Amino acid sequence: MPLMTAKEYIDSLRKLNTRVYMFGEKIDNWVDHPMIRPSINCVAMTYALAQDPRYEDLMTATSNLTGHKINRFTHLHQSADDLVKKVKMQRLLGQKTASCFQRCVGMDAFNAVYSTTYEIDEKYGTQYHENLKKFLIYVQDNDLTVDGAMTDPKGDRSKAPHQQADPDLFVHVVERRSDGIVVCGAKAHQTGSINSHWHIFMPTIAMGEADRDWAVSFACPSDAEGMYMIYGRQSCATRKLEECGAIDGGNATPGGQAALAELDHVFIPNEYIFLNGEYEFAGMMVERFAGYHRQSYGGCKVGVGDVVIGAAALAAEYNGVEKASHIKDKLIEMTHLNETLYSCGVACSCEGCPTKAGNYQIDLLLANVCKQNITRFPYEIVRLAEDIAGGLMVTMPSQKDFSSDTVVGRNGETIGDICHKYFAGRPDVSTEDRQKIMRFLENMCLGAAAVGYRTESLHGAGSPQAQRIMIARQGNIQGKKELAKTIAGISKEEE
Ligand code: SF4
Ligand code: FE
Repeated sequence: MPLMTAKEYIDSLRKLNTRVYMFGEKIDNWVDHPMIRPSINCVAMTYALAQDPRYEDLMTATSNLTGHKINRFTHLHQSADDLVKKVKMQRLLGQKTASCFQRCVGMDAFNAVYSTTYEIDEKYGTQYHENLKKFLIYVQDNDLTVDGAMTDPKGDRSKAPHQQADPDLFVHVVERRSDGIVVCGAKAHQTGSINSHWHIFMPTIAMGEADRDWAVSFACPSDAEGMYMIYGRQSCATRKLEECGAIDGGNATPGGQAALAELDHVFIPNEYIFLNGEYEFAGMMVERFAGYHRQSYGGCKVGVGDVVIGAAALAAEYNGVEKASHIKDKLIEMTHLNETLYSCGVACSCEGCPTKAGNYQIDLLLANVCKQNITRFPYEIVRLAEDIAGGLMVTMPSQKDFSSDTVVGRNGETIGDICHKYFAGRPDVSTEDRQKIMRFLENMCLGAAAVGYRTESLHGAGSPQAQRIMIARQGNIQGKKELAKTIAGISKEEE
């Protein structure tokens, strides 16, 4: 089947029976819902760009499983070059959507589960790797979007899954049958969950023997019987419901999306199971997925950063201060920070190496350093963007005020006239353009889109401490001590 167009992708979502809830009610036509649709448009961009000959090399790849031309978002990386192209593709998508385009989590899950299932089968003679391959061929040939579902709600953080007061706080097996398993639980913060055709569930932490029933990984369709999604509320998101939501919401396009995906006794047939009790492999799957997703941020957040920098430069221009030396310096600093993030994304890709299964994995230490920087630099980039934009970014009246005919002035001025008069910047720039760029920056820095740029940079792909644990594990301090001892002339005996 040829690659789907953006329109075909959106139409394909309409055919699903995904159960979506928002503000306590079921949303039947969720595909056209003004709060959800922007996030669908972002995923649709992963389809649209794959149709564009200019981006063919980045957006498509040749499947190692079938030899077919596929969307790179469904690809198993075959080389370090593939890993670099992945980062470049994500930067491009960030530039085109200024948002989270969601499809990476599935790509990162395919690659992590592919190499982990190979090693589980090697030890136990299970069929998980074959299951994953068959599933992936189906995904590639039908050009599907798959959510990689990892983060459990976790309940009491001091307790292991089996110690929780409610066992459902981590996804687990409640029944084992000859033809499959029945699972219960939920995954929280699910990026793109609603907009995906399928989900791959994975454990969220390393597990011990007592957590055997929680060590489970499988694929299931997003509209499986017993599966429900509760839409996550985002800052300022209801502005998109307003009549003038296109401007007040910070433009119609950007919009990530996160939901709680609940599994209420969902049956998973054997052929879709990738881990079922082999608890010692839960940690490997988590670590590999997290590594890939931390690399991903060295692409997507950089692309979004490019747009934030561009918007800040425009705000300066519209305010008439683009020639001020401190503005130029701030733009240099923002660029320096953004390109440092990109360098980390490229570096951990170039240093990638093959797994036992044959697909390529990033350098884990560098991927964690990449993501650790991403927990910081976008905040500084946003601080500088807010600095350049000025306070108007958060005090500007609504679009309804700008369009209002209500007369208030003695000379017959309307509210709209007054807004246009006092919010004008440079005379050759329309107030509307200035409004647009201020609202856009507001949205990116502290509105709904900030969820995808700031907060997701902090917590997505693991909160800062998770990377520090990995950096401690991979940093080889002992080896570094040996280097110092050798040069300082300290012998081992003197230690
Ligand atoms: Fe992709 Fe970035 Fe969104 Fe993760 S946060 S799904 S890497 S766009
Ligand atoms: Fe993410």
